[in-house]
Order: sequence, then structure tokens, then C-alpha cells
Amino acid sequence: MALYGKSLITRRDFMKFAGIVGMGIVFPAFHLGDIIRPPGAVSDFLAMCIRCGQCMEACPYDSIFFFGITAGALVHTPYINPLRSPCYLCQERGPDGKKRPVSTYLRCGEVCPTGALRRIANDKEVLCNLPDELRMGRAFLNREFCIAWQFNFCGECYLNCPLKDRALLARPPDEPIPAGVLRPHVDISHCVGCGMCAYICPVRKQATFSRTLNRVNQDLFQFKYRALVRSLLARSGEQVRLPAIRVTGRL
Ligand code: SF4
Ligand code: SF4
Ligand code: SF4
Repeated sequence: MALYGKSLITRRDFMKFAGIVGMGIVFPAFHLGDIIRPPGAVSDFLAMCIRCGQCMEACPYDSIFFFGITAGALVHTPYINPLRSPCYLCQERGPDGKKRPVSTYLRCGEVCPTGALRRIANDKEVLCNLPDELRMGRAFLNREFCIAWQFNFCGECYLNCPLKDRALLARPPDEPIPAGVLRPHVDISHCVGCGMCAYICPVRKQATFSRTLNRVNQDLFQFKYRALVRSLLARSGEQVRLPAIRVTGRL
């Protein structure tokens, strides 16, 4: 249960109501190919999703949003916007700093009543090796605008990737980079497209303009990376697509 306005209603009820009246719902500036669905979305997802909102209710991190009525055929279907809230792959960081599953299966797929989201074991090896058709998308790192590649600093994406050392490597395996030097590299054969890297990357326009950034990103930007990010942005003008590491969807 969650409080919306002055009434105590479920998030699912709220989502349905908001979709019906269409107030305050903004259609994100996605092209269809850029839409990131929750993990396990089958290829005929649009036909199988009954718009029930159960995946959104089950997500422990509020990572799932729903399209509003201005979205046409996509109305009331779930998506993930990594720059607002990535998919955490139902993991949390333990006291030792390591990430651990919080559930046996990814929660959104576990509760989906139609199989539009497949049930997926919350296991690193399983997630690293998902078939292409069940991934959310893939990450792409632009070395030209990456602080680690340009200034030998940062590495936040590598450190925070839930599939660290599989999807995101400390350095490309086939380039002569000395051990101990951090040059993040995406292995797209294992990346699931969760968007954590894009969310955490300090090189993002939103770091300059958005008030909705959470405290982690504000701190990163303000105290660690501000000068370097400004330098990169000044160098790039309006040409660059931020963040330095981006995720594209597959549906
Ligand atoms: S896998 Fe977990 S964190 Fe990711 S969208 Fe599904 S319920 Fe949310
Ligand atoms: S590389 Fe990025 S999108 Fe891919 S699994 Fe890691 S954090 Fe998620
Ligand atoms: S978080 Fe962004 S700037 Fe930092 S190493 Fe990763 S891609 Fe580069």
C-alpha cells in the first residue's frame, strides 16, 4: 500500500486511475526500439501483457513505470527508465559491500500472471547468460566521454554493475591495458540491460539540470566529478549523447 494524495490506495489502482484520466502522465521521448521492458519480456509482450500492474507492485525498488494514455498501443504497459530508476535485478548490497539476491526469482516475472514477463532465477550465472530475447537491452560505453578513459578516474559503472566482471569488465580483454588500470568495458554477450551503469554514470546531462537525481548521484557529481564532467561537456558541446554509458532496449 502507498499513500497518493490524501487517499490510501494501491500503486496499481493509482496507475490505472492515472492512465484513465491521463493527468500528469508524460510519454517519454522514446522511439519504439529504445523501450526498455522489465527483464524477461517475451517477444510478443504487447499481446500478452494484460496491463494489470502486478509487476510494478512487486518491484522492491520502484523501478517499473507505466505508459499513460498518450502512448497509444503501449498504454498501461511497463517500462524502465534507467535515468530515473534502473532495474536492480532484485539485489541489495550486503554489509561486506557485495550484492546479493533479495528473492529466489526476479520479482516482476515471478508475479506476472500471463507469462508476458518470464520467471527468471535470481542467480548471477543465469542472468549473465539470458537468451537475447529475454534481456532488457544492452549497454554501450562511449570512451570519448568516459572519465575513466579520458582522465584515469571514475569506474562507477564497473563498481556498481550487478553483473560486475561479467557484463562490465575492468578493462577490455583484448587490449594492452596494464593490470590495475581501470578502463570499463561492456561485454555485450553478458549485459542484461539493467541500466545501473547509465544511472550511476556521472557524465550525464541530468547531473547538471535535473532536480530529481537521488542523493547518490548528486554526491557523485558535486564532490567527485564536477570539474571533470564540466570539462567533458565543454569539449563536447551539444554533439554528445549522454550519459557516457547508455542502454538501449530491444522491444
Ligand atoms: S528484476 Fe526486480 S528490481 Fe528489476 S524491475 Fe523486476 S522486480 Fe524490479
Ligand atoms: S553493463 Fe550496465 S546495463 Fe549491463 S548489466 Fe552491467 S550495469 Fe546493467
Ligand atoms: S561511470 Fe561513466 S564516466 Fe565513469 S567509468 Fe563508467 S562510463 Fe566512464
